[in-house]
Order: sequence, then C-alpha cells, then structure tokens
Amino acid sequence: MTDTDPCPCGSGLPLADCCGPYHRGEPAPTPEALMRSRYSAFALGLTDYLLATWAPETRPASLPPDDATRWVGLEILDHEHAGDTGRVHFRATFREGRRWGVLEEVSRFRREAGRWRYVDGAPSVTRLKPGRNDPCPCGSGRKGKACCVRG
Ligand SMILES: [Zn+2]
Ligand SMILES: [Zn+2]
Repeated sequence: MTDTDPCPCGSGLPLADCCGPYHRGEPAPTPEALMRSRYSAFALGLTDYLLATWAPETRPASLPPDDATRWVGLEILDHEHAGDTGRVHFRATFREGRRWGVLEEVSRFRREAGRWRYVDGAPSVTRLKPGRNDPCPCGSGRKGKACCVRG
C-alpha cells in the first residue's frame, strides 16, 4: 500500500490525502475523521496508531497482530460532536477466510489536549452469508463471484 493507493476507509481519496497524515501524527479534526483513520489503521495493521488514539482508561496493554481478519468496507451511518465529546455510528465489513461479518458500533470519542481519542462502544457482530450472485460485500459493485466470494 502506498500513499497514492485509495484510502482503506473508502473515502475515494488517496491515502496521502485522507487518513495518511493522521497516521503520521497530524491531529484528526473530528471524531469522524479519527474513526476513519482508526478503521484504516486496523486495515493496515498500524497497531501503534490504534493504541495512541485510544483513551488511557480503556486502552488495551497491547494489540495482538490479527492477520486473519481483513477489513473490507466502512460505512459511517451517523456522527456528531459537541465540545470535547463525540459519537460515531458505523458499520464495518470484514472477512476471516471464507466467513464474512459486519461489526456495527456507536463509538464514543473524547478530545484532550487537541486530540480526539476513542473511548469505548458496544459492538454487535452479524454474520453475512453473501451469495455468489449477490453484490459483493466489499462494496465493489461487482457480483460476489466476480470479486471476493469465490469457490
Ligand atoms: Zn481515509
Ligand atoms: Zn469484493
């Protein structure tokens, strides 16, 4: 993945014009921007960034590498912020081998010293059973069998 590749968050922008600068230390201006950059960090395996943008009281001591999960799509359903707190409701599609799922969560965010951090959220995971002739769950617009749902 290079800076000119499309950002994993699905914005349609190159990584360098989207989440890339946040991964390099620029503060994300809104909870939504932080959420997108954290999703991209999950997709790219940037565990240091994930830990750095986690509120200290809920931050895990470490994040084990998760090579089995591939994050294939992000949909922001709703977002709002007022003062130094915010919320983002999102849906993230992932696959683990041939198993697909959707994680949906309303995440809470807090800003301290000019930086937004992820606080917590209650995730719910739904399994997907994409058909070979259904639109691919990755959001490519192609049929599953012509994209990620093979075999
Ligand atoms: Zn992005
Ligand atoms: Zn696909």
